[in-house]
Amino acid sequence: MYVKNQLLEVEITDITNDGEGVGKLDGYTFFIKDALIGDHVQFIVTKLKKTYGYGKVKTVITPSKYRVKAKCPDARRCGGCQIQELSYERQLEFKRDKVINNLIRLGGFEREFLESAEEPIMGMKDDCFRYRNKAQFPIGYDRQGNLVAGFYAGRTHDIMPIDDCMIGVKENKDILQAVLEWMKSCGISAYDEVCHKGTVRHVLIKKGFASGELMVCLVINADRLIKEKELIDSLLSVADIKSISYSVNREKTNVIMGDSYKTIYGSDTITDSIGNLKFKISPLSFYQVNPVQTRKLYEKALEYADLTGNETVWDLYCGIGTISLFLAQKAGHVYGVEIVSQAIEDARENAKLNKLDNTDFFVGKAEEVIDKLCEKNKDSREDTDEYRMTHPDVIVVDPPRKGCDELCLNTMLKMSPDRIVYVSCDSATLARDLRILCDGGYVMQSFAPCDMFAHTVHCETVVRLSRKNNEQSE
Ligand code: SAH
Repeated sequence: MYVKNQLLEVEITDITNDGEGVGKLDGYTFFIKDALIGDHVQFIVTKLKKTYGYGKVKTVITPSKYRVKAKCPDARRCGGCQIQELSYERQLEFKRDKVINNLIRLGGFEREFLESAEEPIMGMKDDCFRYRNKAQFPIGYDRQGNLVAGFYAGRTHDIMPIDDCMIGVKENKDILQAVLEWMKSCGISAYDEVCHKGTVRHVLIKKGFASGELMVCLVINADRLIKEKELIDSLLSVADIKSISYSVNREKTNVIMGDSYKTIYGSDTITDSIGNLKFKISPLSFYQVNPVQTRKLYEKALEYADLTGNETVWDLYCGIGTISLFLAQKAGHVYGVEIVSQAIEDARENAKLNKLDNTDFFVGKAEEVIDKLCEKNKDSREDTDEYRMTHPDVIVVDPPRKGCDELCLNTMLKMSPDRIVYVSCDSATLARDLRILCDGGYVMQSFAPCDMFAHTVHCETVVRLSRKNNEQSE
């Protein structure tokens, strides 16, 4: 009935979870890239299936009332921000709906119940651009053989030169320029992933928003960096940089960073703070990318943990211990667990830096560490630390997108804390895990979505659960 490359017109009536516009023609559904809810568009058919197809906007005939002009000239090609042309207010509504719909569809919760438990989405207040404190730019050549720094276009491996990414910091532009100038004047090549030759693969830039400190790290396909002094001079001529380093990555891989790094100028780390806590950040450590929103997210997690000063708390999937330390300011003792050993070293270091010695950190898979501890401490006496450790008052979890392992959830149920605080970056896996926790004796009391990634389709959510019999006895 329809053919590929055909030009059609349609009214956009919905948005998918991935930010595509949905339009229906005689019962046949099209998912259309760059079309917004409320738009009337002309689009090109790109792919056809039996009952649905895909398309790409050719012209917006009548724009939606939610349509705004993208700040980045390359927003559509880049694909990093899927919904930059949607007004920020409408983006927030979209994210809130996405969370609710996933909880209904994949978690089996009732809409009415969810609406009574929900708190307003925490959006960005002032400028919802330039929020990212970290950027990783691939370096390569364009089709004409010019040296370029940018992002991979859409889902390809073509590097699209980026002059100034609007969700990143202003300094990125000059830093990239300085690196490219240095490469040109010193005859340093860019990495070519097809033939696995050439030197510079990526430039990583991090900025401590509270401290203003900048870090630059070059990822190279060579055992060591040459022309270091020239690089340092070139970088220092454009910005006040606290740390310059390189990381060797000689593998044929999509993983960006190597296993270690070498500092060639300034300090090994930069510092940043969230609230009144300080954190040391290295090129390799995981650190939330939107510090303004991270603070709101952590404060909500702390509020949901409802601590009075004596509680034993677990922070599962703790990274460099940011949430753990937030909690430790109000708890009796906090235990953290994380799979990356370098992150746990950072967590211990950060605990010292903030003089929070009521913390202990474990390296390993969350599910294995807590399961083994429960087994080991099962005969411990009630007034011992061993007992308290495996009978915590509160468990906080902040897993990666794939959510919690089932063994992890079951062990949490066995540990039977009064409250569970679930911090999630994917509402689909959150919904699945909440179903298990609620079937296991917990009640969802409240939840709050939080926008950490403006202009993208991603949304964080914090959920407060409490144990059922606990609730009844209150
Ligand atoms: N709470 C931290 C980090 C959250 S990101 C923060 O806010 O900064 C999720 C973390 O889970 C990552 O650091 C990742 O390394 C870790 N992780 C992934 N799988 C894990 C597992 N099975 N057990 C423990 N940690 C895991």
